[in-house]
Amino acid sequence: MKETIISLNELYGCNVFNEAVMRERLPKAIFKKLKKTLDEGIALDPAVAEVVANAMKDWAIEKGATHFTHWFQPMTGITAEKHDSFISPTNDGKVIMEFSGKELIKGEPDASSFPSGGLRATFEARGYTAWDCTSPAFLKEDVSGVTLCIPTAFYSYTGEALDKKTPLLRSMEVISKQAVRILKLFGNDTASRVIATVGAEQEYFLVDQDMYAQRKDLLLTGRTLFGAKPPKGQEMEDHYFGVLKERVAAFMKELDIELWKLGIASKTKHNEVAPAQHEMAPVFSTTNIATDHNQLTMEIMKKVAGRHGLTCLLHEKPFEGINGSGKHNNWSLSTNDGQNLLEPGTTPHDNAQFLVFLSAVIKAIDTHAELLRFSAANAGNDHRLGANEAPPAIISIFLGDQLTDILEQIENGGATSSKQGGRIEIGVSTMPPLPKDNTDRNRTSPFAFTGNKFEFRMVPSSASIAGPNVVLNTIVADALCDIADRLDKAADFNKEVQAIIKEITAKHKRVIFNGNGYADEWLVEATKRGLPNLTSTVQSIPTLISEKSIETFGKFGVLSEVELHARYEIHLENYIKTINIEALTMLDMAKRQIVPASIAFVTELANSINSIQATGIDVDISAQTSLLKESSTLLGNLQKEVDALEKVNAIATEMTDAFAQACYYRDEVMKQMRAVRSFADQLETIVDSDLWPMPTYSDLLYYI
Ligand code: ADP
Ligand code: MG
Repeated sequence: MKETIISLNELYGCNVFNEAVMRERLPKAIFKKLKKTLDEGIALDPAVAEVVANAMKDWAIEKGATHFTHWFQPMTGITAEKHDSFISPTNDGKVIMEFSGKELIKGEPDASSFPSGGLRATFEARGYTAWDCTSPAFLKEDVSGVTLCIPTAFYSYTGEALDKKTPLLRSMEVISKQAVRILKLFGNDTASRVIATVGAEQEYFLVDQDMYAQRKDLLLTGRTLFGAKPPKGQEMEDHYFGVLKERVAAFMKELDIELWKLGIASKTKHNEVAPAQHEMAPVFSTTNIATDHNQLTMEIMKKVAGRHGLTCLLHEKPFEGINGSGKHNNWSLSTNDGQNLLEPGTTPHDNAQFLVFLSAVIKAIDTHAELLRFSAANAGNDHRLGANEAPPAIISIFLGDQLTDILEQIENGGATSSKQGGRIEIGVSTMPPLPKDNTDRNRTSPFAFTGNKFEFRMVPSSASIAGPNVVLNTIVADALCDIADRLDKAADFNKEVQAIIKEITAKHKRVIFNGNGYADEWLVEATKRGLPNLTSTVQSIPTLISEKSIETFGKFGVLSEVELHARYEIHLENYIKTINIEALTMLDMAKRQIVPASIAFVTELANSINSIQATGIDVDISAQTSLLKESSTLLGNLQKEVDALEKVNAIATEMTDAFAQACYYRDEVMKQMRAVRSFADQLETIVDSDLWPMPTYSDLLYYI
């Protein structure tokens, strides 16, 4: 036992150039300066970078590194790297290992093929990467060797953000500044920074690698485009929190180890609702580090799965009729003097500071609901949101009884009490009475208060969490700014605080909903309340360039109008390409696999009928005849729908206006894809399983 504890201590973070390593390896004065940058957000001195680079290089080389890379997060949503070796040839035909401060701070990867939404075509082609010293450098080990990875921001020659990290860092600055203003007004002089914290729970599926390889749709699009409902789905609910299968358990064990090496605090793991679905939750950290870690987690999940003959599916909806995957983005605010600003304490009605921050969140979410909705939109998530398994596309907040009651009291004149949870009696005499939480959970809410943080439950499983957090940080900063502006001018601080909370409650309580978000009645009620319901990605993308977004992002310098327009283009383009690839993959599979297999089956039946009839013996061939008729009809219909899909997809490809094109893909191409699928799936249920050209849902979901 002791041995594992020691080795775990050694293992954890062993591939990270973290604070402990820096303290050990950097001269005291340099470490102090770097720490000041990290803690207080002060610009980094280039002379410090030079020394850090050298220490980083020595550390990496001792651990076997030969290369370094500026690791960045372009708008593709995945990470990118270009490896440079440390070697520098000398005159005597040998090499020395070099890595300068300049190389640490700035890179020019060119990387002109990443989506830029026209930014680089119209301005300058150059793209740069800049060291983000607030997220620690780390070592990646794989078959290509050991590489020192330096987290960086990626931007253009003119300083426009080309990535996910730049606006995230900007938004963290912005919320810190506005939150500190509020804290100062409340008389807190010790907190100089407020950090937005995030813990991202990650859902995923594991399927057998060989089966995966036989499914072109999974391979090319990440989801199954065909597949009849299996005899057993998730109706027994026997997978949720179930005992792990050995192969899965072995995968999870190794995943933990790989994550821990990188200082990613993987904390819980369990089976999810759907068969073959699982979840991992890390301990929270700063928004920035949590985002980097989530990117790495997704990458490592895929890598480790491969070592166990498995493939990890991160798509939001790999299987129709089976729950899809999401990410729960737990979000809160912490001060650098150790306070969680969303901690209500035992008597929240007395806790004016908490109530101000809570009000700011409520105001932010209601005012910018469309933007938050957009931040969780992608083509994959369109199959989840609003379906009966994930939150609806309507943004609402679950507050729970206690806080809702306090806000109601304030609205009606003043809060004098906090409802307490009391104790739960389990009815077993040997068990102690347990303190009850002040509120139950609500799994149907897209944005739920969970004790001392909010959980944004809409986030797509495959996407970077940067986008949602940029939005959260910025819109809450916006609300805090409005509140601070008012408090700055207030003659009577306490009175103004009460007035603000009261006003916000009255104006924005429509966004609070503690009931069942999956129920149809909620849709009716939400419409009555005037809450926006953006049901698709395409519908939500224009929010990015709405007057309100441009104003809010612009006011705080998180994203400029130019950057927003670029992102608008990128999101549309991404959607269009995604559906186009799906349509083409579907056509390919239908024409080259499903139609031929069905023809073989029909022929088999016809041959059977012919051969039996040739014997001249009078036997019952009604099974063959009816199957022949049924499969031939389905086959004929399938072919018609395939031809139609080919036509609509060709029309879509020709369109020039991106928004109209995206709408056409959503409305016409997707509709036609459903028609193709419906006939193919019916055929799957009657065609000889030996002839069926790909693994079925039963194979994929249960064979591990
Ligand atoms: P719950 O019981 O509400 O699910 P957990 O303790 O299991 O809460 O945490 C779920 C996720 O929320 C974890 O990733 C956890 O690290 C994260 N989390 C907890 N506290 C915070 C916080 N203050 N800020 C951000 N994330 C947090
Ligand atoms: Mg959760």
